[in-house]
Amino acid sequence: MAQPVTQQAGEFGHATPREIDAGGADSLLHSATPPTLVDVREQYEWDAGHLAGALHAPVDSVATMIHGLVPNPETPLVVYCAHGVRSARAAVALGALGYTNVQSLAGGIVAWEEAGLPLAPTARTDAQHARYARHLALPGFGAEGQARLLRARVLILGAGGLGSPAALYLAAAGVGTLRLVDFDTVDISNLQRQVIHTTSGVGTAKVASAANQLRALNPDIQVEAINERLTADNAAVLMNGMEVILDCTDTFDARYALNRAALAARIPVVHASVYRYEARLTVFTPGSGPCYRCMHATEPSAEAAPACDVAGVLGSVPGVFGALQATEAIKLLLGIGAPLVGRIMLWDALDARFDEMRLQRDPTCADCSTVQ
Ligand SMILES: [Zn+2]
Repeated sequence: MAQPVTQQAGEFGHATPREIDAGGADSLLHSATPPTLVDVREQYEWDAGHLAGALHAPVDSVATMIHGLVPNPETPLVVYCAHGVRSARAAVALGALGYTNVQSLAGGIVAWEEAGLPLAPTARTDAQHARYARHLALPGFGAEGQARLLRARVLILGAGGLGSPAALYLAAAGVGTLRLVDFDTVDISNLQRQVIHTTSGVGTAKVASAANQLRALNPDIQVEAINERLTADNAAVLMNGMEVILDCTDTFDARYALNRAALAARIPVVHASVYRYEARLTVFTPGSGPCYRCMHATEPSAEAAPACDVAGVLGSVPGVFGALQATEAIKLLLGIGAPLVGRIMLWDALDARFDEMRLQRDPTCADCSTVQ
């Protein structure tokens, strides 16, 4: 691709494209001289839904495709992607190619939809229609829900007992981008419950083992495998651009680091934990519900909360709760049902009993009391 030259030098010399918000773009599209829309996302994102009348040129190809698509460089263009990052890059590149009237849609197609503006009728492939047929038939889900999932971006922290079933169900459901973070390698003792991994994967990185399975399960989706340990230092970077986070970690350090970063980034977290034959699940929504530290103001002692390798765990217990995490994530993404906010679902597998506990927001919480 041609190196972009500065269209309008920013403070640090970076090229800064002109931006237009969703309402402004909609007005222009209804004006006497509507701009040409250029969608610079990948094929699978385009297939999941796009703006009516848009041309499609993925960001890495747009510089070579644009002369064929839009021969006149004075044509007004509005370039868009999912969130406005790739389109900003594309707008700068098009400016460098001599296109004189290029604007990037701020916030991308996500902001467009959030403004209540319509997409073109979805042209799904026959294969996608068949794959998601049981979703498409669901009341409250349908084609729009599936298109929303195909554009969704979910972070799964931990590819172990909870992360395995959660990732499998989200991949099967067609969640468009799954970012998977774990620092461990597959051990034979994991296979009793971490069902995404196989015997032949023992000794390999968990994220690589899991990513292989997810891609085999559903080639529609993008899997980002990150072989890192979540810490307070990298938590913000790891969750950048994500819409929902699944907390499938198993240490208090990781959960507190995740809590603070997710509050700052205002990303909801679906939290689960397991202990022997028991499990619990809840959802934290920054600003409107309690957070992890409201639930655990301080870290329990090692005796009070021993890890799985000490305490033991029935393999199917994280299986059930990982699947429930995936379910809560899908509800959040689609805005359906009653999310498990301010409530803790408890399961005792031996008694075969589900219970629910209320969880109030702590007005003195060290992590969330200042978050509006
Ligand atoms: Zn809190």
